[in-house]
Amino acid sequence: MLKNLIIRWSIFFIVLTVVYFIINAKVHAVAQASLESALTFTVPVYTKDELVNNIESRLKYLYLRTKGIKFYVYKVKRRENLWTIAKRYGYSVHTIIGCNPQLKTYNVNEGQKLLIPNIGGTLHPVQPNDTLKTISEEYGLDESVLKNTNFKLSNDLKEEIFVFVPGKRPLVDLLNENMQQKYALRELFVSPLAGRITSAFGKRRHPVTGRASRHGGIDIAVKQGSWVGAAASGVVTVASYDVGHYGVAVFIDHQNGYITHYGHLSKILVRVGQRVKQGQLIARSGSTGRSTGPHLHFTVKRNGVNIDPLQFLW
Ligand SMILES: [Zn+2]
Repeated sequence: MLKNLIIRWSIFFIVLTVVYFIINAKVHAVAQASLESALTFTVPVYTKDELVNNIESRLKYLYLRTKGIKFYVYKVKRRENLWTIAKRYGYSVHTIIGCNPQLKTYNVNEGQKLLIPNIGGTLHPVQPNDTLKTISEEYGLDESVLKNTNFKLSNDLKEEIFVFVPGKRPLVDLLNENMQQKYALRELFVSPLAGRITSAFGKRRHPVTGRASRHGGIDIAVKQGSWVGAAASGVVTVASYDVGHYGVAVFIDHQNGYITHYGHLSKILVRVGQRVKQGQLIARSGSTGRSTGPHLHFTVKRNGVNIDPLQFLW
């Protein structure tokens, strides 16, 4: 009887020990495997083309390399443009252009993805001979600022593709060719005034007639009586208190194929034939003509064809 019991217990313990070793070996194998996969996880290697063309890759790249800055993939909503998005984040449109080297135009479409940082700044595409010193000099920054925003940035930048430069605009000659041209065009014009753009160029429902129409310019909401400046130097060709639906309006011929119109004004400060300089005050804004409230209507024509003023104004 006792002998029988001892045998039974012995068998039980032997089985238990075997099971223990089997389980242990399995656990160990799993642990080893996961350790190996953890050790073999490498930082992905990106090419510049991939970072330019793939926003998700750029996001991951910057996530691993920047400090204290958040980047988001932003989907453009209906009726948004680069300016309204930049304004929402509290920085200039240069930040969006600087962080989105894939952009070849200022026009963005609903659903299009953009990389958006939580602070103003630009991505600097690292050039072959760049050092921390040359980059900080080019942007007029202290090296420590770059080190504070870019993780583990040493003087050897051979491995780097982009460096985030906080608070700065992109360097024009490092933008793609299309954007370089656009930046050059913008130097022709300054904004006639600072205000919120309420109606963009192109298709819209007319605010007064309610009918679908093409908007030949942009509307900038401003307080009654705001100063209006010439977008570029030129000669005044129209300065009249009755220009149809424009109401009180001034037209300027910039004598390089470009003409600008300023409508719904309240007061004119120039006369026909007068030469004006860029930024010179030409009128005060109002709500004359076909208008639902105080705003400036601003049109740019190139060789007689209306073009989107947002191509020219920051
Ligand atoms: Zn208008």
